[in-house]
Amino acid sequence: MTTSASTGTAPYEELADTVRGELILPGDPGYDQARAVYNGMISKHPAAIVRCSDTADVVSCVRFARQHGVDVAIRGGGHNAAGLGVADDALVIDLSRLRSTTVDPANHTVRVDPGCTWGDVDHATVAFGMATPSGFVASTGVAGLTLGGGIGYLTRRFGLTVDNLLEADVVLADGTFVTASETSHSDLLWALRGGGGNFGVVTSFTFRCNDIGEHGTIIGGPVLYDFADTPEVMRWYRELLPSLPEELSGWIGLITIPPAPPFPEELWGRKACAIVWCYTGPHDKADEILEPVRTYGSPLLVGLQPMPFTVLQSAFDGLYPTGLQWYWKADFFNEISDAAIDVHMKYGAQLPTGHSTMHMYPIDGAASRVPADATAFAYRNGGWAGVIVGVDPDPANAGRISQWAQDYWTALHPTSAGGGYINFMMLEGQDRLRASYLGNYDRLAQIKRRYDPDNVFHINQNIRPEGVPGF
Ligand SMILES: Cc1cc2nc3c(=O)[nH]c(=O)nc-3n(C[C@H](O)[C@H](O)[C@H](O)COP(=O)(O)OP(=O)(O)OC[C@H]3O[C@@H](n4cnc5c(N)ncnc54)[C@H](O)[C@@H]3O)c2cc1C
Repeated sequence: MTTSASTGTAPYEELADTVRGELILPGDPGYDQARAVYNGMISKHPAAIVRCSDTADVVSCVRFARQHGVDVAIRGGGHNAAGLGVADDALVIDLSRLRSTTVDPANHTVRVDPGCTWGDVDHATVAFGMATPSGFVASTGVAGLTLGGGIGYLTRRFGLTVDNLLEADVVLADGTFVTASETSHSDLLWALRGGGGNFGVVTSFTFRCNDIGEHGTIIGGPVLYDFADTPEVMRWYRELLPSLPEELSGWIGLITIPPAPPFPEELWGRKACAIVWCYTGPHDKADEILEPVRTYGSPLLVGLQPMPFTVLQSAFDGLYPTGLQWYWKADFFNEISDAAIDVHMKYGAQLPTGHSTMHMYPIDGAASRVPADATAFAYRNGGWAGVIVGVDPDPANAGRISQWAQDYWTALHPTSAGGGYINFMMLEGQDRLRASYLGNYDRLAQIKRRYDPDNVFHINQNIRPEGVPGF
């Protein structure tokens, strides 16, 4: 392994001698590319980045950082809203080169390396007609999405991603290694199921896989309505969704129709209320089950069709390439109230850029049958995770998109359930974090004290170790 001279106070040449992965320091040719994350609004300057080649490299990095008093950032897919995979002056444990998966079709499980994206996992499992619940975008990292909870197309039917997390290998703050499962370090598994990157560096995830569609072919796609129809569509959707079989899920949002195929040219740039549906049940029942969503109202477009699950999962990846400016605001909602719909109409009419949007993702069905204290993820009331994102390629628009998202959120928040999904938030402080974990925060703080009393892993939505002075 080669590297340039050490920087700062830590002797990085010693770390270079220990790890097999690539050490990248300020001034190295690849440094700017290695420090960049998905959210172009984030520009951090770490002291060093190690692209780990195995778990031993992770252990070396954790021990080195502790010994030399360097902050530790952990990078999985690099998609975090607040850009928490990197930090100024930190040692970045970059897992992006660890991207293997191992499917066990007989046992319906998949073992996943920590640098995988959901596209990697879907590719591996859908070949066997199976999937693990994840999100709505394939390029998102498995690690960060899982550790925050994981809300996606399969949530109604099979629960959150964390409800399907069976086991995790973890390098702890003292450099030791444990496997967390229901039978070993079960408190750690509980905390990893929604508590974020607070408890150690996860070096392997094992998930349950579920049979979907006809050997992985589902029926899905968008149904688009004129923006003016939003109030009626939202009222219809909020009543209909709980009555639908759990094989069918759909998120609702306010969008600008992208100016690109497969959307018909006459719709390009038009504001719309969108519902993106995904039906994972048997296809001989599809016509009957999808009938109400195909026939309601006067849609601009009904884009439902059979497709491999991987195609629906990656449908938005091209529209949202890496490096755009993103400003995120989030809340959970127990209901979509009439007052909320008024707010959506006001701010949906003001979507500041073509990429800016509001989405509401259902957390009902299987996810809401898991008790709120069974995992760290607490909001399981059968409602929605709402997200407002101001997005644009041009950094000059950062202020405008941020202001719109903040104003929208401020007006909508009184209609919310209180907290928000940590994976859809920028850093918003401890009160907000407590509100997002409800009664589970205190147990998380106790487990944090047990596994990371010195708060080594604090570049995240940080749970403070309970009762430890200074935190
Ligand atoms: C376009 C887009 C779409 C999204 N859609 C969804 C969605 O549909 N559903 C959903 O639930 N979420 C969604 N998200 C949110 C997503 O879950 C978070 O952004 C998540 O943090 C991304 O994980 P990552 O590994 O890519 O992030 P990173 O930036 O690499 O890391 C995120 C956080 O996790 C920690 N971390 C990363 N790897 C590890 C590890 N191995 N061990 C311990 N801690 C670790 C980091 O310290 C950091 O705090 C979306 C995000 C984007 C940008």
